[in-house]
Amino acid sequence: METQLHFTTQGLVIKEMNVGENDRLITLFTKEYGILKAYVAGAKSIKSKRSAACSLLTYSSFTVTRKGENYRITEAETISSFFSMGMDVEILSLCQYFCELSSVFVGSMIPNEEFLRLILNSMHFLTKEKKFPPLIKAITEFRIAVISGYSPNLVACDSCGKFEDDIFFFNMENGSLICKDCTENIEGKTVLDRTTLSALRHIAFSEFKKLYSFEIPEKSAISLSKITQKYLNLQTDYKFKTLDFLNSITTY
Ligand SMILES: [Zn+2]
Repeated sequence: METQLHFTTQGLVIKEMNVGENDRLITLFTKEYGILKAYVAGAKSIKSKRSAACSLLTYSSFTVTRKGENYRITEAETISSFFSMGMDVEILSLCQYFCELSSVFVGSMIPNEEFLRLILNSMHFLTKEKKFPPLIKAITEFRIAVISGYSPNLVACDSCGKFEDDIFFFNMENGSLICKDCTENIEGKTVLDRTTLSALRHIAFSEFKKLYSFEIPEKSAISLSKITQKYLNLQTDYKFKTLDFLNSITTY
């Protein structure tokens, strides 16, 4: 998308890096332009409103000036901040994982409003509503897979068309579902009980406004989160650095 010399956009700060003595380069996930990198002059020294609006995990309104290939933030005002001093390290790490997912799946200058809405809502439910982190992680990972073109076929058994049973087997390599009567070899397939399958179906198929409105036991959320993580990893063949850290500090 061709950008003007001056424009305003709303975006989430997903990465920050100090440049030189006093400047900062921030990566934004913006509504209109997808991923956008921009410089913030004097950001390190100024304890200003603008500086806070340009901090990691903050969703702000930005005024941006383009000069050649470079973008520079001239104004910034916080809309919502998901960062707080002393926040739980697991929640912080999970938010950083969501930031990495955004930078991997969303293109530069390619808007992806559905993805942004997902990330903002997930951060909201994590940091403000204090929802169980593995559940929010699972919702985010699996919905990302669906909106990024890695949608599995969860409607029915791939072989006989049965859609309800106590257990199903999920082949994560090709995203297909198979029932126990049609399974010849369970090797490499993941068992889905009723709770897990209906949660996965809900995440994949529900309208966005209903996406977060379901409850499952914590134990199920933990196993769901393992499944969605493995699925996203297998499908994309990508190793997320922030995920390694997250998994090293959690005890699930
Ligand atoms: Zn079957």
